[in-house]
Amino acid sequence: MAFYLALEDCTGQQVAELWLGHRDRSYIMADGGYCPVFQQVAWCWECRTFVAAEKLRDLSEIDADEAQARKEHGWFQDTLRGPNDVQPWLMKNTEFLFAEQLAGYARQRAWRRSRQSPPRCLECGSTRIEPMPRDLTNIRHPLTGMTLKLKNVCHASMAIHLLYTPEGERHVSREAPGT
Ligand SMILES: [Zn+2]
Repeated sequence: MAFYLALEDCTGQQVAELWLGHRDRSYIMADGGYCPVFQQVAWCWECRTFVAAEKLRDLSEIDADEAQARKEHGWFQDTLRGPNDVQPWLMKNTEFLFAEQLAGYARQRAWRRSRQSPPRCLECGSTRIEPMPRDLTNIRHPLTGMTLKLKNVCHASMAIHLLYTPEGERHVSREAPGT
């Protein structure tokens, strides 16, 4: 699952389109495990257009995600322990999924601690990028100076699942089918 975004200038002309989606882009780690690529819209001086770029989250953000997941898991387990029949297979299954989730956070932390380079353009790998405001308001085109606005946003899946090295460079030869 990804988001498709298009930007247009004040004359209504589309100036960029891109896809953001941490489920459609992964880092592939040395042990073969996957880690999600968090993304943001940025201007890339190499591509000379707006692109999906890496967003390198702080460890505290990963910790906050895990704390939230633990809370939600606790609520869910409490619900299953309610007055209705407890379904042991369901409990077991959710425990398994939760363990997978925790392993994912541990992988994200290990990746973040080892990451050396600054965020990159996910198209060309350049670090010459300028992240845009998260809400994508008051964006100026760096070349024309025109103010841009969002023309279109929708859910879309990319046709392929893109893989990157832990330093954010494309693994063109190791792409997997899209999700
Ligand atoms: Zn680029």
